[in-house]
Amino acid sequence: MGKVEKIMAGQKRWFLGIDIGGTNIKAGVVDTQGKVVRQAKIPTGREEGMEAVLKRVARLAGRLIEECGLEMEEVGGAGIGVPGIVNLERSMVLNAPNLGWYRQPLRERLKEHLGLPVLIDNDANLAAVGEYWVGAGNGESNFLMVTIGTGIGSGLILNGELYRGSTGAGAELGHMILDREGYLCGCGNRGCLETLTSATAIVRRMKEAIEAGGDSILGHKKDFHARDVFDAALRGDKLSRQVVAEMADYLAIALANVVNLLDIPLIVVGGGVAQAGGILFERLRRGVKERILVPEDRPVRIIPARLGNAAGLIGAAKLAMDLGLRGEV
Ligand SMILES: [Zn+2]
Repeated sequence: MGKVEKIMAGQKRWFLGIDIGGTNIKAGVVDTQGKVVRQAKIPTGREEGMEAVLKRVARLAGRLIEECGLEMEEVGGAGIGVPGIVNLERSMVLNAPNLGWYRQPLRERLKEHLGLPVLIDNDANLAAVGEYWVGAGNGESNFLMVTIGTGIGSGLILNGELYRGSTGAGAELGHMILDREGYLCGCGNRGCLETLTSATAIVRRMKEAIEAGGDSILGHKKDFHARDVFDAALRGDKLSRQVVAEMADYLAIALANVVNLLDIPLIVVGGGVAQAGGILFERLRRGVKERILVPEDRPVRIIPARLGNAAGLIGAAKLAMDLGLRGEV
């Protein structure tokens, strides 16, 4: 990028943030203050293949920009989040199992589709950036963001910067192994945190407990979601309470490990499961406090995320903005 173009990029006031998930694509036009000016969500349609998904991304981006009364030239760049491992240059998706994408040069392909400077990163990393910029992590330069949904994502902000590790594959808390003989994880290992505390894991654990003869108000239901288990627990259902307690304990063990390793003062919990509220957070706070070293001298705050589903796309726009300002995209 030449000098003049760099200055131009520095003057842009709008950026695109796009979060490509296994189920939905969320996109938004974000201003330089972190405000989402306009956003929309469409199905990913991953079964149609990557090219089809990228075309939908481009159409959605074009539509949003038009609805904002903007021209593509007025947009400084696009940040894209994907649920998977992205290489250090942020140009290639190495492995996104939920999308079925392996070793794909996504940055180049999207650049062609969008006609904009593009960068990509792991979706959970971007959610951490979003929460750091204008959400629950604002003002705290060392924290971990954990997103609990179908799977578990995490992002780490250290010394005010996103920590991506030496290859870009860092901060994957979901694959911290807690049970050597546990359930098989999508990554090929057994007993990862994700197999114990994701929404999917909670439902599986509850179904097992019911099948083993446990009595529960969910017993007559053929199918239910993690939030039904939390609701039942809140209503005093004993079996649900046990499952929630077990899930919170495993998560607390993982978080205590992180605190003991990194000495961070804040953990932000997001994703659908985090909406369980008090029943989860109280147990988590207690469970972490019981397990960290010098808890009296080291208060650790564990709080819900603030940006909801938009955290990823806000973080994506922020990263595009920062790198645009530095002339790197
Ligand atoms: Zn795993």
